[in-house]
Amino acid sequence: MNFRVGLGFDFHRFADGRKLLLGGIEIPHPQGLLGHSDADVLLHALSDALLGAAGLNDIGFYFPDTDERFRDASSVVLLQRVYAMVRGEGFRVGNVDIVVLAERPRIAPHVEAIRERLAELMATDRSHVGVKATTLEGRGAIGRGEGIAVQAVVLLEKIQAAQPED
Ligand code: MG
Repeated sequence: MNFRVGLGFDFHRFADGRKLLLGGIEIPHPQGLLGHSDADVLLHALSDALLGAAGLNDIGFYFPDTDERFRDASSVVLLQRVYAMVRGEGFRVGNVDIVVLAERPRIAPHVEAIRERLAELMATDRSHVGVKATTLEGRGAIGRGEGIAVQAVVLLEKIQAAQPED
């Protein structure tokens, strides 16, 4: 069994006075997302998908929001640490696919930049990284523009035995 699938989901609500970070890039918007870290909801969902596929615990386990070390933490750094753990288990990413649920801002103009950034972070090709967005047609908390949710699915390929940690 050389393939493992993982699923991740996250939601953060909007707040004033924060930058909007999505997939490791900054998107111009009057509000950002609230969180203990930099609240990059896309990287959190992706991290959980990677961890789940590798049979590890979730990001809240490794980077608890009660830990002051992770206040305003860069989610790019967290994803890099997650992917290092996944590699340590002997996996590399096959492909990932991501859905951003947001009423605003429009995500489509930023999709290629996000794909490029994610491919770079996981040392894979952009063609292995899918990113798309949808609104909720004005319905529910997301439809009212109260926050952004992200779903991520990941396929990992086992390429070697798990490496002992040093
Ligand atoms: Mg989160």
